[in-house]
Amino acid sequence: MPVEPERIREKAVAIVEGIDISGHWNRMFEQRVIWDYDTSSLDQITSIPGGESLGACYQCGKCTPVCPVDHVGDYSPRKIFRKVQTGTNLLESPDLWLCTTCMNCLRVCPKEVNMINIMPAVREQAVLEGTAPTELAQAFENTFRYGNPLGEAQRKRADWVKDAGVPVPIMAQIRRPVDILWFVECYPAYHPRGKDAARGLARIFHALDVDYGILGVEEKCSCDSQRLAGEKGLFEAFTEHNIKMFSKYQFNTLLTADPHALNAFKKEYPKYGGDYHVLHYTQFLATMIDRIPFHKRLPYRVTFHDPCYLGRHNGEYEAPRRLLEAIPGIELTEMVRCKENGYCCGGGGGGMWLDSFSRNHMSERLSERRVREAVSTGADVLAVCCPYEISRFEDAVKSTGNDGKIIVRDIIELIDESMRGLSASRPRGTDIPVVIKEESIQGYGNQYYCSRQAGSRPG
Ligand code: SF4
Ligand code: SF4
Repeated sequence: MPVEPERIREKAVAIVEGIDISGHWNRMFEQRVIWDYDTSSLDQITSIPGGESLGACYQCGKCTPVCPVDHVGDYSPRKIFRKVQTGTNLLESPDLWLCTTCMNCLRVCPKEVNMINIMPAVREQAVLEGTAPTELAQAFENTFRYGNPLGEAQRKRADWVKDAGVPVPIMAQIRRPVDILWFVECYPAYHPRGKDAARGLARIFHALDVDYGILGVEEKCSCDSQRLAGEKGLFEAFTEHNIKMFSKYQFNTLLTADPHALNAFKKEYPKYGGDYHVLHYTQFLATMIDRIPFHKRLPYRVTFHDPCYLGRHNGEYEAPRRLLEAIPGIELTEMVRCKENGYCCGGGGGGMWLDSFSRNHMSERLSERRVREAVSTGADVLAVCCPYEISRFEDAVKSTGNDGKIIVRDIIELIDESMRGLSASRPRGTDIPVVIKEESIQGYGNQYYCSRQAGSRPG
């Protein structure tokens, strides 16, 4: 800033703690330079309900090294604050859409600058103004029209059960109270690799004689990621729908394999009158480890990726690890960034539907960076327990040239594989168990597997 002599004040008499500093010594600027900034951009953000805490940043810089986006770009709450403070309109900036709401910055921020509140609040304004990136707007539109962001027909929501190989109880058909209401969610219901895990969990429940049911076509997206991406209206409408469906049935526990749905049920649904005992599937199965009929040793070196919305957001780090360590033959190895400091896959906070947009502002995808970390541990298997991750990481394995070095598996699939006694001698990264038809095997379920080349799975 240029010095403005007319704004320099000099008191005629100035005495501080008995010492006379009158004269040239007490010269000061009328205002500190910081007040000369145009604060309208920052005021705009901090005046949005939810955006207030951005104004608390005091530039300590603790958040920058832990922000996953900064590792592949130029980002962090500190940098966003500074840009906004110096006039950037966040509503028009690409920075508005790059945060995955992974929460690692909030974990270390002394001033509790909360991107989990700031981002949805500011994005909501952008969505109302119609400036959301096209691919995100498409996911919103799909959710609105079809009940899921993939744009699949609602009537097909329970089609995956046909190939589960075991009966999957649907609440509207069984019409009785159950212990567990399993909220399947969109990616396990529709995505080819999500369906693999859904079918595996059905087989595990069947083997453990779990008293459960699913909503089937009565279920709609939990919309937690849409909420965090700025579509609060959609979230509220779908929350109302799901709570209405839940109220039709009696159950003790609401269970899901999706940490994003878990987050919505635990933290958001109670605000709308839906208060449930909620568990992630790893938490539920971890209480039943002694009953899981593991059959085959799986001689894999496995590394585990903590989902942000199971770990940092909801505090669960141990249940997935207990399950993996219980599978005979598995050797668990940790990546450097794990548990509280786990690295984000890039799918949270709407990132799942911003892949092309985000890629244009980063040197590589977060999922690609994470796959490189997983490969560096020497692991054969990257284990996950969030339905976003399996497809993100499988794509990243290919795009980073690591095909054949590591495979990606949901923990469900590893448990299912051990229970069903699939071949343990398959070469690394080549054979994937695939359901081919219904038929009885070993008195468990009525289905068997074959092996086929990776990348050739049916849709
Ligand atoms: S850690 Fe908090 S206070 Fe420090 S620079 Fe980051 S946002 Fe600002
Ligand atoms: S929530 Fe995660 S991605 Fe967003 S700014 Fe904080 S550390 Fe970075």
